Amino acid sequence: MDDKLTLLPPHMPGEPPPPGAVLADASKLAHINTYGDLPRWYRDYPFICLDCGAAQTWTAEQQKWYYEEAKGHLWAVAVRCRPCRQRRKQGDHQNDD
Ligand SMILES: [Zn+2]
Repeated sequence: MDDKLTLLPPHMPGEPPPPGAVLADASKLAHINTYGDLPRWYRDYPFICLDCGAAQTWTAEQQKWYYEEAKGHLWAVAVRCRPCRQRRKQGDHQNDD
C-alpha cells in the first residue's frame, strides 16, 4: 500500500524505539529543516550496494553519526558499501554526497 517505503530513512518517527535502537539527540538535528518529525531513534538498516550488489548494513551508530555529527541530509541513506564509496572518491571526482 505504500510504494515509497524503500525511500524512507530507517528511522520511523511516531513509533516507539525497537529493541536495539539508538536514540537520537534532537539538539544535534537542528540543521534539518523539515515539516515533519525529526528522527527520534535509529536502527540497523540493511541494504544492497548499488555498485557491487553486496549485502550491507548501515548501522544505527553510523546513522547517528551521519545525521548528527556530519549533518547529513535526513533523506539521504547509504546506497554503497565502503569499498565502492572509496573507489568512487579516488576515481572521477564526482560529488558522491
Ligand atoms: Zn559495493
